[in-house]
Amino acid sequence: MPIEFAERLKALPPYLFKELDRIRDEVKAKGVDVIDLGVGDPDRPTPPHIIQALNEAAADSKNHQYPVYSGMNSFLTVVANWYKRRYGVDLDPKTEVCSLIGSKEGLAQFPLAFVNPGDLVLAPEPAYPVYRSGTIFAGGTVHFTPLLEKNGFLPDLKAIPKDILTKAKIIWVNYPNNPTGASASLDFYQELLALAKEYDLIVASDAAYSEVTWSGRPHPSILQAPLAKERAIEFHSLSKTYNMTGWRVGWAAGSATLIKGLGLVKSNVDSGVFQAVQFAAMAALEGSQDSVEAMGRLYQTRRETVVQGLKAAGLTVFPTEYTFYVWVKVPSGLKSADFASKVLNEAGVVVTPGNGFGPSGEGWARIALVQEVPRLKEAAERLAKLKF
Ligand SMILES: *Cc1c(COP(=O)(O)O)cnc(C)c1O
Repeated sequence: MPIEFAERLKALPPYLFKELDRIRDEVKAKGVDVIDLGVGDPDRPTPPHIIQALNEAAADSKNHQYPVYSGMNSFLTVVANWYKRRYGVDLDPKTEVCSLIGSKEGLAQFPLAFVNPGDLVLAPEPAYPVYRSGTIFAGGTVHFTPLLEKNGFLPDLKAIPKDILTKAKIIWVNYPNNPTGASASLDFYQELLALAKEYDLIVASDAAYSEVTWSGRPHPSILQAPLAKERAIEFHSLSKTYNMTGWRVGWAAGSATLIKGLGLVKSNVDSGVFQAVQFAAMAALEGSQDSVEAMGRLYQTRRETVVQGLKAAGLTVFPTEYTFYVWVKVPSGLKSADFASKVLNEAGVVVTPGNGFGPSGEGWARIALVQEVPRLKEAAERLAKLKF
């Protein structure tokens, strides 16, 4: 008998970018200078003071053994202090914060702590795929909450059927949003928590992009809402804020019960974040935030550069002051995949078709601003020449 994958792997959605990858390789093979704006991974290096903190901590043998899986007390305290400074939110570092090996790890494992086989989980689409795969791995079933332009890419909470709400265990949200760039208000979080209280839901909020902004003010945290401590958990990452995607460090914060459940899963699966990386993360959170502000301004400039080219081609984008993504509307009559192929074939620019993030992303494409301005200028000039 051939070896078969488990049903949970078979239940994962197919990889939608195969055809696009094939065309990209074909275009590259022709010698075209392809500009890749596909993957959402910051191109700039980690700021030097963070690297230095890693180097120093890595040289100290006290950091060479297993860390506490939930995070060093000093790290958890730095996170709690960050919430106090940033949002005026009080957290008990011992019970309301947990370190993560990158937030993706926490997002994927969280459902294992609270979802029983057959339970419903509400997740947005278009979205980062991990809310869905984590649910599938836990044996749960996903009910999607579509994010539509007419609602500012927020879920229409009133449109979720009552019987679905009654059966659901968790509702996922992600603001500032990947892929749309949409943001949420504290009022939205409050409305969401009120609904969650009515139907006994857990609210899981992915805030990976909260610091990627040029708005001059922090994106709200769900933990600012009074009901949050009862039933919300927020996932945070240093990846996008400090250009640290390869370092694998983040945290979860919120309801002590939810943190405890996540911690129980984690203590059986992983052994925490390398302490030297935790020291580096502390240096990132407590040190100068000049680099964060500078990155925000840089993404704004990069965005304006690309949007100019898109506008010249007659295309429109969803406006935002958050994330390093441009969410561009595909001209009517074209599918997202056709648009992405055309842009690749005729301009040599890789963009991600919106339907790859879920069916409601059809009609849109995502452009990641992860190249330097001169390169983006080149991309914009090529895009400007496209005829639709
Ligand atoms: C990049 C990203 C993350 C996770 O990043 P980590 O590197 O695992 O911390 C989480 N959510 C969204 C929406 C992302 O785009």
